[in-house]
Amino acid sequence: MKETLALIAQASSIQASKGSVATYIPELAKADPEAFGLAVTECDGTQYLSGNCEFRFTLQSISKVVTLALALEERGKDNVFSAVGNSPTADPFNSIMRLEMDAPHRPHNPLINSGAIVVVSLLPEEGREGKIEAILDMARDLMANGDIKVNDRVYRSEKNTSDRNRSLAYFLRSVGSLKGDIEDILDVYFRQCSMEVNAKDLSILGATFACDGLNPITGKQVISPQTARIVRAIMTTCGMYDGSGEFAVNVGIPAKSGVGGGIMASVPGRMGIGVVSPPLDQRGNSVAGLAALAAISEQLHCRVL
Ligand code: GLN
Repeated sequence: MKETLALIAQASSIQASKGSVATYIPELAKADPEAFGLAVTECDGTQYLSGNCEFRFTLQSISKVVTLALALEERGKDNVFSAVGNSPTADPFNSIMRLEMDAPHRPHNPLINSGAIVVVSLLPEEGREGKIEAILDMARDLMANGDIKVNDRVYRSEKNTSDRNRSLAYFLRSVGSLKGDIEDILDVYFRQCSMEVNAKDLSILGATFACDGLNPITGKQVISPQTARIVRAIMTTCGMYDGSGEFAVNVGIPAKSGVGGGIMASVPGRMGIGVVSPPLDQRGNSVAGLAALAAISEQLHCRVL
């Protein structure tokens, strides 16, 4: 297993040169394009690390599954899925267009930016501090890492260049689809995206979802099996943005990507996989990460779809 992963890491990391690091959040543009880390955590707690698993990056869109899990636990499935849909979209993750075109004016799913912003608004905790602390606690429990924090530089960079996400939020409020203090909600969203992790953390996140909510490192049942299954289902249909269909065909594993270059994958009943390589394709998915997951799916027979 260790040798197979090392070979996969070597072969896929070379693919990074075909992508480019995200620049629309200036702080992300500083990421090392050559960094590559690959980690696997199995449901019995066994871990395999390859490449640079100390390399730290921000969760970005991967944070959306953490907040979704929290909202499902605290507010229940029906409340969550009456505020956001559960269907995939062929549009980019920060698209505004559909929100106005489709009625009701509700985000298509919780993993595009508009949907994730609405999910933040559903959290019952008071104010921005209450909400972000609850998200951080959930992230720490899911990843068995009490040290997970917000990277302040990335958070400020994202907040200072947030016209697009602000537009989404203010439009949603104008049509009655987003309620609450909009500046608090956006602030929490920027901070959740800026939570900093490494590939090992990401593999534990995937493993906790894979093991029906039981964290295999701490032995704690963090979320219910039903929440874990819903999150895996939404990752399957929407986790790779408008690349979700292609990923389902080519790789066939529930997964979630982020523009920090991370991808978290969850093989039900077996393992979580965390991979990071900052250069992205046109859709915002890590090029080398996609290559690694395709190879793992094939060589370790991980396809579940
Ligand atoms: N923080 C990013 C944004 O809102 C997250 C997007 C992503 O990872 N696709 O633009």
